Amino acid sequence: MAEKEDNLMEKIVSLCKRRGFVFPGSEIYGGLSGTWDYGPYGVALKKNIENSWWKRFVLDREDVYGVDAAILMNQEVWKASGHVATFADPLLEDVKTKKRYRADHLLETAGFDVRELTDLEMDELIKEKHITSPDGNVLGPIVRFNMMFKTHIGAAEDDSAISYLRPETAQGIFVNFKNILDTFHPKLPFGIAQIGKAFRNEIAPRDFIFRVRELEQMEVEFFVKSDTWKSHFDALLNQQLEFLTHDLGLSPSKIHIVDVPAADRAHYSKHSVDTEFDFPFGQKELLGLAYRTDYDLNAHTKASKVDLTYFDEENKERFIPHVIEPTFGLGRLFLAVIADSYREEGEGEETRVYLKFKPSIAPVKIAVFPLLKNKPELVAKAREVYTLLKKEFGTVMFDDNGNIGKRYRRQDEIGTPFCVTVDFDTLEQGTGVTVRNRDTGAQERVTEGELVTYLKAKIFVD
Ligand code: ATP
Repeated sequence: MAEKEDNLMEKIVSLCKRRGFVFPGSEIYGGLSGTWDYGPYGVALKKNIENSWWKRFVLDREDVYGVDAAILMNQEVWKASGHVATFADPLLEDVKTKKRYRADHLLETAGFDVRELTDLEMDELIKEKHITSPDGNVLGPIVRFNMMFKTHIGAAEDDSAISYLRPETAQGIFVNFKNILDTFHPKLPFGIAQIGKAFRNEIAPRDFIFRVRELEQMEVEFFVKSDTWKSHFDALLNQQLEFLTHDLGLSPSKIHIVDVPAADRAHYSKHSVDTEFDFPFGQKELLGLAYRTDYDLNAHTKASKVDLTYFDEENKERFIPHVIEPTFGLGRLFLAVIADSYREEGEGEETRVYLKFKPSIAPVKIAVFPLLKNKPELVAKAREVYTLLKKEFGTVMFDDNGNIGKRYRRQDEIGTPFCVTVDFDTLEQGTGVTVRNRDTGAQERVTEGELVTYLKAKIFVD
């Protein structure tokens, strides 16, 4: 089973590269660990996931405001938020090779559940069970390693010029809380959302785009009155699930809701629920939901000395709202969608590989072919159909290369749900085109007049 699943990851990585979804970062220089570049189909799929998210969590609601904050922020933000002091992983050094590993990862690989353990307890367990480095050497004690990328702003290199590449998008929201209050005057409960890059100097980036050093997050900080947090928490958890299963079409059986024990929660969280997914390399965190209380706004009030309270007109009360945070990693969602969609049918030369994306998020929605490349009248008609569909659906491709079977294969591999072929009957009898379904391989004849409505109903079906 494990072998088969490993093999699946290899196939996914290879398909992503071969078909222009994801390339290794800085590849011509031998790559840069923990970075990946998205190619044309990758960008298209990523944007579709991102747009579905923005639609559900911002556009379809009346109570969520979007922001796009700077990645570089005043270093005081990260001192106040607790990241300078505590955003750190437990690190172990192989005493011989000096290579560094994450203590929790080594113990998990050895079969231990470390979620409730302190650093001291992990140290003891490593000694007691004689756990060594992957090279078989003794390991030193756990030290904490801060994961923020540090940089200097401007020409000065002293401490006052320090800044960090943000490790989460959330703080860009908290520092804009007052701006939103002052410009939009929202009533509680309300949320502020942001999609953007975040950076974490992970010790061991791995599993393709699952654990990277430069990532994209999609987060909402949903501000509430403290006594109502639980009902909002439950409603947002439900929204997260709906997004995964309905908007992205992920298999419900691969999704697991896991309560995060206190010892494993981030420093700001009072209650956290992770949503895990059955990736080919195991059940791992896909996204999270945290009750951050008033931790951040309180901390920023103290540190900035700026009043970040909310005034409740009804009760004439002034207070700092509490916050629930749904947080999503875009890359992990992308990987979950690809892994869940990957299908192989048949054997050997006859194997058909296809990506069974939900049509609404497929990078290419429709491909249009003339049956033969060397018949100008077929090509002209096919281009006419292509132009019409491109205007309606945007991501439509024209392909007249190789035989029709090869064209189907190429579209299957990038998950195009429908292929439209113009043949001689289209020209002579005006009987329309054939529409071939990616998942079943079945072909249907559809008249030109009905084509747009037919495809819309199949692609944007709810
Ligand atoms: P993990 O335990 O896997 O390191 P985390 O608990 O530190 O993740 P959070 O701080 O809750 O993650 O970040 C929110 C989301 O951002 C995660 O659920 C995940 O989707 C994404 N994310 C976090 N770190 C990474 C990373 N290094 N690479 C890709 N995505 C990440």
